[in-house]
Order: sequence, then C-alpha cells, then structure tokens
Amino acid sequence: MKKKYKVESFNRDHRQMVAPQISPVARLEFGAHTLYKYDLRLCKPNADYIPPPTMHALEHILALELREQLDGVWDLSPMGCMTGFYLSVLDCPDAAVIRTVLRRCLQAVADAEEIPAANEAECGNYRFMDLDEAKKRARALLQTL
Ligand code: ZN
Repeated sequence: MKKKYKVESFNRDHRQMVAPQISPVARLEFGAHTLYKYDLRLCKPNADYIPPPTMHALEHILALELREQLDGVWDLSPMGCMTGFYLSVLDCPDAAVIRTVLRRCLQAVADAEEIPAANEAECGNYRFMDLDEAKKRARALLQTL
C-alpha cells in the first residue's frame, strides 16, 4: 500500500484492528541499538474508548510498572483517540515479551490501592484520574489479552 502520510498510524486501516492487541509499528536504528514503537491497542477503534480520567490513571501506573518490569522503556503515551497507548522501548523486538510484561503491569493496576505521582508537584492534572475504573479496565483486559 502506498504511504499517504508521514504519520505511520494514519496509514493503517483502523477498521481492521482488533483489541486488545500489541503491534510493532515502527523502528529506528542507531548504532548497535534499535528503538521499537509498539501500538498497545486496548479498545476496538470506533467501537469503544477509555474515558480520559481512566486513561490518565492507567498511564501513571503503567508508566512506572513498565519501567520496573522491562529495561529500555523510553516512553509510554496515550493515544488521543483514547483506544490505547504507544510504547517505545529500546532493543526489544519481541511483541510476546511486551505482552507478558503488559499483563504483569495490568495485574499491578488491578491490585493498585493508589496512583503513583498523583499530586500537584508530580502531575499536571492530578485530580483528573479514576482509579476504580482503571482497575475495572485492567481486570477486563486481563481476560482477553
Ligand atoms: Zn498525570
């Protein structure tokens, strides 16, 4: 398929996506290292989305847990459409490894009693989070991911 956009996700047919699913979508080689970008699709596009306060709570916990569980995590960013996250990780080409790690992290969300860095000094909108809904989402995702 001819690439129409410089943004790789715009060139993917979102109607064909299933969720939850982990897909490698881009890679950047530099020297002996490769940075891999994964699409962590948690909701089927245009059928479901995660409300922003739930997404924010998931982001805080996952951002910390992913770095605890896996070396080389560079970034975790919520998609603007609220159907998933982008994860960038150094030298980890195996989506099965990402799945195993993500499952552990979702279990940590399900078990969480508080949200890390949910305070005025460490977050830009710390009241805008919903831990109970994040836990529900994590439990549901663990059934299907
Ligand atoms: Zn925050």
